[in-house]
Amino acid sequence: MPRLETDYQTFASVFQWVLEHRSTDPMTYSCRPASMKIAKTATRSSVRSFGKHDCGQELTAVAIHLRLLLWTCPSNCDYVCQHIVTDRRVSRDPPMLQPVLQYHGKWPFPRFLGMQEPCSVLFSLFNLLAHRDGLSKVREKISSDYPLRKYYVAFSYVGIASWVFSMVFHTRDFDVTEKLDYFAAGASVLYGLYYTPIRIFRLDRERPPVKATLLRLWTLTCVSLYAAHISYLTFWHWDYVYNMAANVAAGAVQNLMWSGFSYRTYQKLKKPWAAWPGMIVAWIILAMSLELLDFPPLWGLVDAHSLWHLGTVVPTIWWYK
Ligand SMILES: [Zn+2]
Repeated sequence: MPRLETDYQTFASVFQWVLEHRSTDPMTYSCRPASMKIAKTATRSSVRSFGKHDCGQELTAVAIHLRLLLWTCPSNCDYVCQHIVTDRRVSRDPPMLQPVLQYHGKWPFPRFLGMQEPCSVLFSLFNLLAHRDGLSKVREKISSDYPLRKYYVAFSYVGIASWVFSMVFHTRDFDVTEKLDYFAAGASVLYGLYYTPIRIFRLDRERPPVKATLLRLWTLTCVSLYAAHISYLTFWHWDYVYNMAANVAAGAVQNLMWSGFSYRTYQKLKKPWAAWPGMIVAWIILAMSLELLDFPPLWGLVDAHSLWHLGTVVPTIWWYK
């Protein structure tokens, strides 16, 4: 309990300070956090704060460009308070062991043009551009009667959509933007799983006729899997652990298939490019392991999650080669 008490005292003094100084920046402090109450979880790495504001002129206090991105008086105050707490903790003498904490499960990133996680938005944009570039390459270089072309085009579209939703989610984290990001990311992982055996076993070919039946069955299986996945998360239970496990499992199966395919092609042809799919897979696994490290953001900006998004740019460019 002593730890909780000191935490509470720190917070109480910080909000006292906010109250005293709110007149110095009317834009930020014109709302009155008079009934601000702080509830905290007792975990070491996360502090949750819930603000309740008695506010006469709610939205006029928040700058127009922030309001366009749906920042309200409470969410704006919450943001400002996080940074006041963080700045105080960082500059404390003697230094604290863990000065930067997560708030509502996120690191306190500085906002840029109202974007909550500017680096993740930027790196998602890089991925989006890689897919857009890839799409124009596919259209330019692969003749339209090549049977696998439509699968490459679909791959680009799924990729572009998933990175658009990623940008939206990292710009503003709401329930709906988070769900869309997860569903789109799930779709792109599952599309990878769908496409892999089609490419490896050439299920797109008409002979022997069993391939067409297999392709139909496989398409139906994947569509059903996706529908079941979305339904479970939407109507049953929003489950982070299950979602992560489902994505890792779908990713692992396709990685194994690609690695095996790479190995066999390399054995046959002894050409270095035959090993590329296997190397791309190794890279993605390396980047994915970044997701598991959750360190405080470097220079206050770059955290493990944004690095994971940066890490997928190169394999995407590589894939289109
Ligand atoms: Zn993300």
